[in-house]
Amino acid sequence: MSAMQDVAQDFAPKDLVRSPELVPIAEKVLRGDRLSLEDGLTLYETADVHGVCALADLVRRRMHGRTAFYNVNRHVNYSNVCALSCSFCAFHRKRGQDGAYEMDIEEVRDAALAAADAGATELHVVGGLHPWLPFEHYTKMLSELRTAVPRIHLKAFTAVEIVHLQRISKRGRDGYEGTLAVLRDLKEAGLGSLPGGGAEVFDDRAHDTAWKGKIRGDQWLDVHRAAHELGLNSNATMLYGHVEGRRERIVHMDLLRKQQDRTLANWAEHQNIGTRPDTDGVLLSGPLDAYPQQRLPMPGQCGLDTGYFQTIIPLPFFPDESGLEQLPGPTGLENLRTLAIARLMLDNIPHAKAFWIMQTLGMAQLMLDAGADDLDGTVVWYDITHLGGSSTHQETTVNDLRRIATEAGFDPVERDTLYRRVERDGANWRLADESLPVAG
Ligand code: SF4
Repeated sequence: MSAMQDVAQDFAPKDLVRSPELVPIAEKVLRGDRLSLEDGLTLYETADVHGVCALADLVRRRMHGRTAFYNVNRHVNYSNVCALSCSFCAFHRKRGQDGAYEMDIEEVRDAALAAADAGATELHVVGGLHPWLPFEHYTKMLSELRTAVPRIHLKAFTAVEIVHLQRISKRGRDGYEGTLAVLRDLKEAGLGSLPGGGAEVFDDRAHDTAWKGKIRGDQWLDVHRAAHELGLNSNATMLYGHVEGRRERIVHMDLLRKQQDRTLANWAEHQNIGTRPDTDGVLLSGPLDAYPQQRLPMPGQCGLDTGYFQTIIPLPFFPDESGLEQLPGPTGLENLRTLAIARLMLDNIPHAKAFWIMQTLGMAQLMLDAGADDLDGTVVWYDITHLGGSSTHQETTVNDLRRIATEAGFDPVERDTLYRRVERDGANWRLADESLPVAG
């Protein structure tokens, strides 16, 4: 890639932004310098939201060219029964309450078999914190899935579920070692990676206002650190537009960035890739000759079993049916801006996702020009957030995902959970690099 010319080489700051306060930030982006927290706030406060999107687009094109990733996946929300009652959550129910449900292992397995028949490469499995099911239920669920659908990658359990499993497995008092032990058991049973949910916003005031009882940001980060230590990749979300402020969002991004710096520093040393002198982290969003995209750690490829944050997924808050119904929720422009800022601030996370389920397909299409390189997948069922109170059947087709990407001027590329290219003929698929293990 070093022989390629940087997409930014012909740009001057004024070609990208029109507001003077964005010029120093544009200069930093062109050089590949890290943005400060104050820069992040300026990006939120400027009226030049299109300039913010242009900067994010430049970074996105440096990192991924015109590629728009998507995958063929299925979500399984195995139960909405939850011991907690986070006020922003319209998903949870108490056992016996109207609308409460629990899928037994056979039902989960049937859903997985249907997903395999439809050609899915990934199963995304999450649920509430069930008050009575034992830890063995979850390891059994994973191992039965592993046996039933051995080619499908199992992405399962948000960090708060992992902490819940740690408690019910009686390793709750063992702190970080207990988290590692639980994740080891789950990995052994078939877990392939962690989704990024449940991060909300890493801020104690917001936490105590809207999801008191749920884990705090430091615990969420510890769970992902442990997963990475065991070689499991994960994603990171940020739920915004509720009781938090814009500064808290920027701090949230910075905490993710710092953790990813520490994770990738070891790998970079192993790969002989220089770390940045300013942060001791790894630069992924700078000029092309500094971007080691092809050398990101891949399981089984780099000789170092390190997981890392693959993708940042900003999630807008939907007030409908939640305990915060009085709030307006974020606007479309705020969604675009937040995605773009996440792309710019998180210079060491390879991918940024426009999660169409929560952003809508139309907005996700616009986001491809504002920093997003990934549209997520075909999904089918999604119970966590009902857009405008709609049904839980949230399905799109490969054709639709490819069509919106192509119409926006991008090249749609199917990926698996670990961003490896997939080749497909109907429901039959294979990894483009057949030397890699299929389920990751
Ligand atoms: S957000 Fe998660 S932990 Fe909180 S109530 Fe909903 S399902 Fe339970």
